[in-house]
Amino acid sequence: MSFTMHGIGVSGGIAIGHAHLMSRANLEVAHYVVPRGQVAEESARFQAAIEDTRDELEQMRRQKPANAPSEFDAFLDLHLMILDDELLSKAPRRMIEAEQCNAEWALKMQMDTLLAQFDEIEDSYLRERRNDVIQVVERVLKTLTGQPGYAPPPARPEESMILVAHDLSPADVILFKEHQFSAFVTDLGGATSHTAIVARSINVPAIAALHHARQLIRENDLLVIDGTLGVVIVSPDAQVLAEYKLKRHQLDIERQKLKRLKTARATTLDGVEVRLQANIELPEDIPQVRESGATGIGLFRTEFLFLNRSELPDEEEQFEAYRRVAEEMHGMPVTIRTLDLGADKHLDGQHSVAANPALGLRAIRFCLAEPQMFHTQLRAILRASFHGKIRLLLPMLSSLSELQQSLHLIDQAKASLAAEHVKFDRDIEVGGMIEVPAAALSMGAFLPRLQFVSIGTNDLIQYTLAIDRTDDGVAHLYDPLHPAVVRLVAGIIRSADQAGVPVAVCGEMAGDVTLTRMLLGLGLREFSMHPAHLPEVKQQVLKTSIREVTPVTQKMLKADEPEKMRALLGKLNA
Ligand code: PEP
Ligand code: MG
Repeated sequence: MSFTMHGIGVSGGIAIGHAHLMSRANLEVAHYVVPRGQVAEESARFQAAIEDTRDELEQMRRQKPANAPSEFDAFLDLHLMILDDELLSKAPRRMIEAEQCNAEWALKMQMDTLLAQFDEIEDSYLRERRNDVIQVVERVLKTLTGQPGYAPPPARPEESMILVAHDLSPADVILFKEHQFSAFVTDLGGATSHTAIVARSINVPAIAALHHARQLIRENDLLVIDGTLGVVIVSPDAQVLAEYKLKRHQLDIERQKLKRLKTARATTLDGVEVRLQANIELPEDIPQVRESGATGIGLFRTEFLFLNRSELPDEEEQFEAYRRVAEEMHGMPVTIRTLDLGADKHLDGQHSVAANPALGLRAIRFCLAEPQMFHTQLRAILRASFHGKIRLLLPMLSSLSELQQSLHLIDQAKASLAAEHVKFDRDIEVGGMIEVPAAALSMGAFLPRLQFVSIGTNDLIQYTLAIDRTDDGVAHLYDPLHPAVVRLVAGIIRSADQAGVPVAVCGEMAGDVTLTRMLLGLGLREFSMHPAHLPEVKQQVLKTSIREVTPVTQKMLKADEPEKMRALLGKLNA
């Protein structure tokens, strides 16, 4: 039976493919239907794996090395206790029998349930035990792979698969960069969560906040994903399928046409030059950047180098990554943002226990609290600055003292390199992200100390409107056209212009073609966005006259009602 689901379109485009249900966390396990006649065998396979794992843990205790640390026994006791938990040892069998699913999948689903319970726990010690749960499940999964069982049907090629997940972290999505799924949809998430941002960077359609996708969609269901409208059509009929195939084809043609703009200069109809730069998460994104025709990197979110691993990358590894980006950009500016960990991005095993992580020890606050880690990153960036045109960008400044401390630590990192006679760009430009209303309203303090500023509209909107970017429950309130947001952005651009400090926007607003004219009218001349959006924004710049749009944007600054704001935007884009 065909049915439709609605969510928030977080990455545009159309995909048609077969559903692949994915479980949460980093453990990827296959999901397939076990024929009714083989369910009992599958259930026994699971039971055998649990027993083998228990034997393995008991054996570890018997063969305990003489010099084992005193916590060794406690660790084994804990893991045995977790293994015997009803949710892990019994519930999966019931699930295999009720849903005819494979043992790995049943175990993983129950683990997700258990982890969700851990996430609710206030006590930080108990919350940290979630990693032990994952380790125990990994051990059982390993045992399961050694057990003969029902062989799943041959896997489809990734390009024809659409991932369906309850939730994905930015770290999960970054792993997809190595895959070729044609789209993904999630039950949770908002349009400017980092998960959505990475989805856009992979350039596949994506939809968030579907709420019941993983319950209602079954493995292998045929899906049509309209990432622009946020619509999923499950098991479409032949006519709908044909319509969407045609639409997809037309979109491909438009995309191909836009590629011709790659080498065109981004100049408005009245001759104003605009700089269009790219946002990246990893050095591997550079080919896409070069393909887009970007004239530099306006934002390198370096924290993605730190995800999906439990140990920090050392100075050498970071240096190599930054140097590679600098060299591959052939002298074009590369803006490296220092670590923005915290909130929804964590090192493995360091999930935040703060009640409000977005308001907690995040970004520059985290770096200042971990000066050794910050020092290592600063040295790596400075060393790379010898190999290209690198600029250093500080995230989430909210008070002058944070900027002063950061500048002091940059000086210290420079001094340590100079003492070792290591070469670096002594005049490296230092910029600040303006993404907290406090910073937007304190430009007078920040501007004399910065060589450039970049407006992080994703966080600026989050903090101005008090809307958690990652919470789909309030995603509908997230509004770049809220009069307070538009005025703040306009004020930042004006102050920077008056002080002669270059200003860019690097939040998602920069890549939203419906806002390009408004931002140009507000005086913005530098945009940084995911490379996939750049050709379309360039086309809009080429079709815009600053002289014509400025009076309309001035009216927008005076508008108080959202309807008026939207009407004026409509006029701008007409
Ligand atoms: C922003 O907040 O707009 C921004 C660019 O930074 P991030 O999305 O990484 O928080
Ligand atoms: Mg930000």
